[in-house]
Amino acid sequence: MNIEQFRTRLTEEKTALEAELATVGRKNPSNPNDWEATPEETGLEADPNDRADQMEEFGNNAAILTDLERRYNDVIAAIARIEDGMYGTCIAGDETIEEDRLEADPAAATCKTHMNG
Ligand SMILES: [Zn+2]
Repeated sequence: MNIEQFRTRLTEEKTALEAELATVGRKNPSNPNDWEATPEETGLEADPNDRADQMEEFGNNAAILTDLERRYNDVIAAIARIEDGMYGTCIAGDETIEEDRLEADPAAATCKTHMNG
């Protein structure tokens, strides 16, 4: 298995995810591993319609952020497993993760048997 190839793909995805996260959220100042959604910046004199738009925007951002953050954490964890020499080993049952599964998703933490568990 060419771990360096997966490391490169994961590192590139991490960078891309950080850029995407920065468009809908900001890092929690008290917990750098946590991101919080940010509403669009608007002026102080926003009228009630703008405020409704702002809340809607915030809800959208929060939903997008949740998905991005989940993926980001998977990618971070996969990179950590490379550093620990545990990459490619199923976290559920210690099986070797199938290479085609890693090709499809380099952040996969489980083998095909445990992928839905
Ligand atoms: Zn497994």
